[in-house]
Amino acid sequence: MTDTAVAIAADVRAGRRRALDIVEEHLARIDSREHEIHAFNLVLAERARAAAAEIDRRVAAGDDPGPLAGVPVALKDNLCTRGVVTTAGSRMLAEYVPPYDAAVVARLESAGAVIVGKTNCDEFAMGSSTENSAFGPTRNPWALDRTPGGSSGGSAAAVAARLVPLALGSDTGGSIRQPAGFCGVVGFKPSYGRVSRYGLIAFASSLDQIGPFATTVTDAALAMDVIAGHDPRDSTASRVVPPPFVRTLVEAAGNLRGVRIGVPWGLLTEGVERDVMRAFETALDVVRDRGAAIVEIALPHSVHAIPVYYIIATAEASSNLARYDGVRYGFRAADARTLAEMYDRTRGAGFGREVKRRIMLGTYVLSAGYYDAYYLKAQQVRTLIRRDYDAALAGVDVIAMPTSPTAAFRLGERIEDPVQMYLSDVFTVSANLTGLPAVTVPCGLTADRLPVGLQFTGRALDDADVLRVADAFGRVTSWSSERPAMAPSSTSH
Ligand code: GLN
Repeated sequence: MTDTAVAIAADVRAGRRRALDIVEEHLARIDSREHEIHAFNLVLAERARAAAAEIDRRVAAGDDPGPLAGVPVALKDNLCTRGVVTTAGSRMLAEYVPPYDAAVVARLESAGAVIVGKTNCDEFAMGSSTENSAFGPTRNPWALDRTPGGSSGGSAAAVAARLVPLALGSDTGGSIRQPAGFCGVVGFKPSYGRVSRYGLIAFASSLDQIGPFATTVTDAALAMDVIAGHDPRDSTASRVVPPPFVRTLVEAAGNLRGVRIGVPWGLLTEGVERDVMRAFETALDVVRDRGAAIVEIALPHSVHAIPVYYIIATAEASSNLARYDGVRYGFRAADARTLAEMYDRTRGAGFGREVKRRIMLGTYVLSAGYYDAYYLKAQQVRTLIRRDYDAALAGVDVIAMPTSPTAAFRLGERIEDPVQMYLSDVFTVSANLTGLPAVTVPCGLTADRLPVGLQFTGRALDDADVLRVADAFGRVTSWSSERPAMAPSSTSH
């Protein structure tokens, strides 16, 4: 018996295991490891027990609680949960209790999932290491002196340490894929519009997308079957009916024959760590052996992806974060004499350094006189990047790249150097700028035993295809079953 989401749900639905026992086991793991990792901002033990007991009652009564019956799930703390504090990693929202559930939360619960807690993240999802959380950093379960990546570092670390089989995160420039890669788990950023953003605390609305973390591609697909789909409350949610994710993987059965995989070698020349490059090249050999064709492609405008991303993301953030004014949401500074002083003090004390830096950058690139030179230009280059991808994807099914140029870096190593920090997103931001689906799967370990991620990017709304290729890779390699020493071994009984 394994502890994948698929196995747990099958057992609970068939009455072979009780949801309550499964929750207790995962809560016990959290109890024993959380003090070292700090994956969670909040553990909802009692709520989880009550939800699990209700699942068990329904199974006993002959009901089917759904495809995620009894599966413990962790939520990034920027996903709104009704009646449960949702902080987005910010002092500004340290006591914010949303009056509604995010669409994905409601979908998970109605599929039988058991929410066990809210995971730590960089403040308002701005960061690549989880060190920008107002509540202290999360540590990488593979090496406690390393970051788990970010911004969804808590979700990645929780899954890597097997504290939960499944977690959700959000990805604006890599915040699912980079931490999943750093922590040796699967992470998927769906196509823009595939999953409703209703109830996700906005960072950069044209880039934000919610997606799953799991230990297998099939588990990520199972989560997608539950969370994907149209939602009238998100005006950018696609009306295209989502594919059956798990069924697509089952039917493809790991076959890679005839699949064309593009590699943008020109982008991979500089700054990629040797062990990362070696793992990437070995991974390409594996897929080639299984019948895939590896084709060189060019993505000439992607060299501009980082500056383009950091202009657009900060511009949108400066607008989205204007709502935190001390009047309508969260924290309000005391003792201000005038309204202006109240705004000033509230935002001065409520936001952390990186968030302030981004609000200032974003305000600057949108201001009269600079708008054309920065924001408008960035939007134009964004279009060129998208055209490069469309042209490449007309000839190949997916594009392969390392997820990040390096393995997990040390806590403190980049926090004083924002540009170094931003560079860890070189291979991930393009999928957000283009809206394309992208997944990371474990593809090796460095000499220091740190995980390396392999990223596949696919055509818009071809989400199932991207997962199919990742699944095929996962089936013929054993990297996904490597786990940090602190995680329990693979059997749960
Ligand atoms: N690391 C990137 C940033 O800091 C991406 C963050 C994200 O995807 N939320 O903006």
